[in-house]
Amino acid sequence: MAENKKSQREKSAAGASAGGGKNTGLAAREKRAAARGKSTNKEKWAATAEEKQATAGGKRASGEVWVVVEQEKGRAERVSWELMGEARELAGELGVRPAAVILGASGRGLAAQALEYGAAAVYLAEHPALDPYTNDPHCQALTKLAQEYQPQVILLGATTRGRDLASAMATELSTGLTADCTELGIDPEKRLLRQTRPAFGGNVMATIITPKHHPQMATVRPGVFPLPEAQAGASGEIVAVAPEIDSAGIKVKQLQFVPNPPEVSLGGARVIVAGGRGLRSAANFALLEELAAELGGVVGASRAAVDAGWISHQRQIGQTGQTVRPVLYFAVGISGAIQHLAGMQQSDIIVAINNNSEAPIFEVADFGIAGDLFQVVPLLVEEVRRRKEEAGVAAGEAGLDVAAIMDRVGRE
Ligand SMILES: Cc1cc2nc3c(=O)[nH]c(=O)nc-3n(C[C@H](O)[C@H](O)[C@H](O)COP(=O)(O)OP(=O)(O)OC[C@H]3O[C@@H](n4cnc5c(N)ncnc54)[C@H](O)[C@@H]3O)c2cc1C
Repeated sequence: MAENKKSQREKSAAGASAGGGKNTGLAAREKRAAARGKSTNKEKWAATAEEKQATAGGKRASGEVWVVVEQEKGRAERVSWELMGEARELAGELGVRPAAVILGASGRGLAAQALEYGAAAVYLAEHPALDPYTNDPHCQALTKLAQEYQPQVILLGATTRGRDLASAMATELSTGLTADCTELGIDPEKRLLRQTRPAFGGNVMATIITPKHHPQMATVRPGVFPLPEAQAGASGEIVAVAPEIDSAGIKVKQLQFVPNPPEVSLGGARVIVAGGRGLRSAANFALLEELAAELGGVVGASRAAVDAGWISHQRQIGQTGQTVRPVLYFAVGISGAIQHLAGMQQSDIIVAINNNSEAPIFEVADFGIAGDLFQVVPLLVEEVRRRKEEAGVAAGEAGLDVAAIMDRVGRE
C-alpha cells in the first residue's frame, strides 16, 4: 500500500514537472507581456531587487525560507510552529536561513518561541494597523517585506486567515500559490520547492513547482507536519522592521470580535474515535462519545457522517476536513476512502472496526477488527473501563496497553 502510494506520488510529480499546462501558460503570459512592452514578473522582481540594493545599502536577496506566524493576542497557532520545523529542513537543504515573520505588536512576545521552534531569524513588524488582523494591512506589510528581503519560499498555515492572506499576497507579488500541501521538499537538481497536494478529487497526488515566479508560496493544513521539539534558549537574529502601510488601502475595519462557540479541538487530540456511515444515525454517535471519554479522546467523523447531518462539519477528518495525527485513531464504520485517509493516515496507531473485512481501511490499520461495530464498541468500552480500574487510571489519563486490549477483544 505504502509503495503504491509512493509510486503514484512519483508519477504525478513527474507529470507536473514535465512541463504541465500551468507552467507553459505562465511562460506564454510572460512572452506576451514582453511583446506588449510590459515588464514581466521576473523583471519586476529583479527591478525591485535592484532598487532595494540601492536603497538598503546593497542588501542582497536573502533567499530565506519564511514562515508567516499566525497569532491572535500573542498566542501563536500551532500550525506556525509545525511549519517552522519543516522550514528548517527545507532551508537546510537549500543552505539558507529559516526565518519567522511576526506581524503586530501583540506578537512581540513570540519571537523567542519562533527561535526555539527552529527560526534562525525573526522579522518583527509592528504598526498600529496590524492589530487585530485584517487582510489589507497584513497583505501590504508582508508584500513589501517580501519585496525587500526576497525570501525564496513563503509558507503559511492553511487556516481561514492563512488562506485569506496567502492568496492576497500571491496576487500582489504576481506569483504562484499551492494551497493545502500535504508534503514539501526540494528538487535536488532545480533547487525548487516541490509542493505536493491531492488533485482530481484526491485521486492523484500532484507535485507542483513554481519555476518562473518568485517567491514560491504554499499553504499547509494544521497537523500535516509534526510539532518540532522546542530548543529552550535558542538564539538568533531579531530584525525589527517598520512596515509602510497606506491607510487609504485599508477597506475593512473590525468593529467587534465575536468568537465562535468553543468547539472540540481535533488538532491537538491524542486519541480520536471517528465514526462513518456505518454508525447509521446521529444518536449512535453516543457510543463513540463513550469510548472517547474513557480514553480521554474526542470524536471525529467521515464526510459521509457529516453530510448525513449526524455530526458538525468541524469534526470532519480528511481532504476537505481536518488533518489529524493523534497517537491513537479509531476508524469505526468508515470504509477508508482516499479522501478520508488524506486526513488521518499520519496517526501513530490506527484501529479499524468494520464489518466488511475487505474494506480499504484495513490496509492502513495497525489493528483491525472485522465485526459489527454495535457489538465491538461496547465490548471495547467495557474492556477499557476494566483495565483502567485494575491499573487505577483515572478517566482521560493515558497509560493503556492498546495492543493488549485489541488482542483480548479480538478473542471474545
Ligand atoms: C472532493 C472530495 C472530497 C472529500 N473529502 C472527504 C473528507 O474530507 N473526509 C471524508 O471522510 N470523506 C471525504 N470525501 C468522501 C469520500 O470519498 C467517501 O465518500 C467518504 O469518506 C465515505 O465515508 P464513510 O467511510 O463513512 O462511508 P462509506 O464509504 O459508506 O463506508 C461505511 C463503512 O461502514 C461499514 N459498516 C457498515 N455497517 C457497519 C457495522 N454495523 N459495523 C461495522 N462497520 C460497518 C461498511 O462496511 C463501510 O465500509 C470526499 C470526496 C470528494 C469527492
